[in-house]
Amino acid sequence: MGTASDIKLIDEKGIRLDGRSLSELRPIKIETDVLERADGSAYIEWGGNKIMVAVYGPREAYPKHTQDIDKAVIKARYNMAAFSVDERKRPGPDRRSVEISKVISEALQCAIMVEQFPRAQIDVYIEVLQADAGTRIAGLTAASVAVAAAGIPMRDLVVGCTAGKVDGKIVLDLGKEEDNFGQADLPMGILAKSGKIVLMQMDGDLTTEEFDEATAMIYDAAKRINDIQREALAGKYRALAMERGGE
Ligand code: UDP
Repeated sequence: MGTASDIKLIDEKGIRLDGRSLSELRPIKIETDVLERADGSAYIEWGGNKIMVAVYGPREAYPKHTQDIDKAVIKARYNMAAFSVDERKRPGPDRRSVEISKVISEALQCAIMVEQFPRAQIDVYIEVLQADAGTRIAGLTAASVAVAAAGIPMRDLVVGCTAGKVDGKIVLDLGKEEDNFGQADLPMGILAKSGKIVLMQMDGDLTTEEFDEATAMIYDAAKRINDIQREALAGKYRALAMERGGE
């Protein structure tokens, strides 16, 4: 979060730098089955973010000491390509990517019927090809679709979204400048049907009222994002049905 007070991110009419209103999402596109060798995959474009997700498993957890006799272990790995950001990102894991991998693993764990696969692991590789703020929630949204596309039983899809505070106003889905120079950023992961929160982090400060306003905005947007997820999965099954019909 920057403090540059001279940068105006929202104009008098409530229009943001990229032309959006306060409660408007950036454009989102999701495609499934983009990688042949993965058990499930998804590609998401969310504003300027471009992220590929590959899912493998369930398969026997290795090394053995990572096995859980009661359930599958979710091993999500979030990685940013060196070329995904303005200033070259040093390849390999860092504190940020380890943290994001952990919170995404935990969020997916709540959605997947892990108890059906004791001693197994499910690998979820999240590769950020182009980053433009909100990569963790875009990655989580796509990961959830990729897991479903792998045919792994799930209780619910996880929808990721952020809201935050920019120029003193609560806004949905922060863009890059808003993330850099805004006052708060609240990424959340929500189970689509139950509304249960499975990921919540916060950078900056919000009052209780602002937090409630931001959360309400996220819940409202989650329905729209979930429709895009479901449409991507429906597209997969329509294509399969056509293949079968043509046999
Ligand atoms: N970013 C960057 N270099 C880095 C990490 C992040 O340029 O090493 C940018 C990138 O565009 C990212 C944004 O900063 O999307 C916000 O990062 P944050 O840690 O808030 O995570 P995100 O919003 O992507 O989940």
